Amino acid sequence: MDALSNSLAAADIATTMHPYTNLRQHEQTGPLIISRGDGIRVYDERGKEYIEGLAGLWSVAVGFSEKRLADAAYQQMLKLPYYHTFSSKAHEPSIRLAEKLVEMTPENLTRVFFTSSGSEANDTIVKMMWFMNNALGRPKKKKFLARTKGYHGITVASGSLTGLPINHRDFDLPAIPVRHLTCPHFYRFGMEGEDEAAFTARLLAELEAVIAEEGADTIAAFIGEPLMAAGGVLPPPVGYWEGVEKICRANDIMLIADEVICGFGRLGTPFGCQKFSFTPDIMTLSKQITSSYMPLAAVMFSEAIYQAIADNTATIGNFGHGFTASGHPVATAVGLENLAIFEERDLIGNAARLEASFQAGIRSFADHPLVGEARGTGLIGAVELVADKATKRPFAKVGRAGTIAGGIGHEEGLIFRAIGDQLALCPPMISTEDDVKEIMTRMGRTLERLTGAVAKEGLE
Ligand code: PMP
Repeated sequence: MDALSNSLAAADIATTMHPYTNLRQHEQTGPLIISRGDGIRVYDERGKEYIEGLAGLWSVAVGFSEKRLADAAYQQMLKLPYYHTFSSKAHEPSIRLAEKLVEMTPENLTRVFFTSSGSEANDTIVKMMWFMNNALGRPKKKKFLARTKGYHGITVASGSLTGLPINHRDFDLPAIPVRHLTCPHFYRFGMEGEDEAAFTARLLAELEAVIAEEGADTIAAFIGEPLMAAGGVLPPPVGYWEGVEKICRANDIMLIADEVICGFGRLGTPFGCQKFSFTPDIMTLSKQITSSYMPLAAVMFSEAIYQAIADNTATIGNFGHGFTASGHPVATAVGLENLAIFEERDLIGNAARLEASFQAGIRSFADHPLVGEARGTGLIGAVELVADKATKRPFAKVGRAGTIAGGIGHEEGLIFRAIGDQLALCPPMISTEDDVKEIMTRMGRTLERLTGAVAKEGLE
């Protein structure tokens, strides 16, 4: 490394507490400093090339060098760099984007509330549900249902909805009333002798039992990602979502689809709820909304929810919630341009067309001795590493094989995400058939080398 790289790395270690990072390890290994992007590729400060196989954090749909988004941001900054949307103030980009989102999402979602992150959007939903149920004179209806391994963010309320131990342990979460139901992942949570349909039936019976136990009049909403992504890329079992929707409707429980990763075509349909045939009352959007060129998220919700909240503001005054950056003009202008590119290049259709070769590529790793399951749908997939393929036994030291794989991946020029020992791929939506081939080639080389590396460390 040259002097600049060395001094940058030293400054990083000296100053920055990185999110989702083992800090003591980071002090030893230092950062991987990415300095530029080009299409689906990024380059580190030594000029080494990587395919960004996770599109950043499942988010950079149009790739890392889209000038039109840079221009949209620049033009908006020249015209009106900032204005807020409190107390009836408005500006054109946020109005236009709201209109666009209402047009794109399922028909019943007629209203939008903007935030800057997925976490803030899910916190907003929690508060909207509480506010709405107070307004409707049902102050007991405040609990949430979520799933183990679900991911909904890390702020106090959204982190409570998330169902991962690392986000709860030592953070004193959950801090809001939430029940986490069984993770709908057949490979890991299906029981001996149970087929997928029986697994679904068991999950739905559990949902009904929890509602009966808690009382439907105490439960505000059920939240779930159509396909659980950050928990390990876990497609739901057949019939699951139709069943959940039916039970929620029968019990007057709002259904929230957290589409932060599935949204905008990742599964080959505009939204994940369409892939799995259900209609949510509320939807969380973020990430691909701007291809992450600017921070932005949106809560989409039904007219009935809006009307209940609006009625209450007529009585008590303002809806006392909102962020300095809600509907930020530069972020919403970039979002509009990004969605225009989605349409012009038919990126959702592109994901649908690539699904066959991408999923075949992922599943081609199923025979590898360390791969317990190779899974996914649309343009998202994962392989789960196990110590014993026959019994599905995970490695005793969870996450070590994943970390080793990540390191080899870097050497092979492929960035994916190791979620414990699950290796996730979610490439940019502009990828081509050739890109998919190259991603699978690099993943294949990584897995080939992994066998020896795991044996060498004596991982069991
Ligand atoms: N919901 C889902 C489904 C997510 O995947 C994420 C982030 N990975 C979030 C919410 C939280 O978004 P943010 O990191 O922007 O707060």
